[in-house]
Amino acid sequence: MRSCGCSIARLWNDRAPGNHELRSATVSTNVFWDDPYLPRLVTTVAAVEGEFLSLTETNFFAFAGGQERDHGTIGGHHVLDARWDGPKIIYRLPKKHGLEVGNQVEVVIDHQRRDRLRRLHMATEIVLELLTKAHPHLVKVGAHMSQERGRIDFATEHTLTDWLVDIGKIANQMIATDIAIERDFFAGSNTRRYWKISGFAKVACGGTLPERTSEIGPINLRRANPGRGKERVEITLSEG
Ligand SMILES: [Zn+2]
Repeated sequence: MRSCGCSIARLWNDRAPGNHELRSATVSTNVFWDDPYLPRLVTTVAAVEGEFLSLTETNFFAFAGGQERDHGTIGGHHVLDARWDGPKIIYRLPKKHGLEVGNQVEVVIDHQRRDRLRRLHMATEIVLELLTKAHPHLVKVGAHMSQERGRIDFATEHTLTDWLVDIGKIANQMIATDIAIERDFFAGSNTRRYWKISGFAKVACGGTLPERTSEIGPINLRRANPGRGKERVEITLSEG
């Protein structure tokens, strides 16, 4: 099994301020994994401390594995930040949000942003798998997915320009072929996720991924040079 670096456990370093109530609250059910298409969810406030709160269930993704967080509102209040704390997410709202434990709230995410993050995350995964399958010595040193582009950094002296022509063709063929993407938890875990498509090993990934490759649409690859001994691939959607 390869890892795309999306194991969220690695990204839990940055915690919201210490708070026993928040930490002992019921573990959130992260609905964005079962249904990464859900734009709105009515849920319940599980814990509150000052501007921070957690929810019993949530469709609002926090930064993990290089994928940027969602944008949106909770109970009509703009979400200022979202951080993983163990298996659940803590949200920061404006100070005078007035919400209390047990309140029902609607969580609304920017679904156009999520749509692009979903497609660009999967596109980035496919490009990474194709590149490292064809060139096993490539060592990934970073990855990031925004709503504008995906990027992968490698530690290598080899200029990637030539390789990207072929990789781009194969990636676009895979996307056009409309392959089903299996997405699930690893056996025995309710936090560690993977994706798998025919012909590839399981890849650990905590992102919000699409059901089929065709959703991504045509992509473009571009090589960049972020520094000595490093090569970067930038992935964008052809639609702009
Ligand atoms: Zn991933």
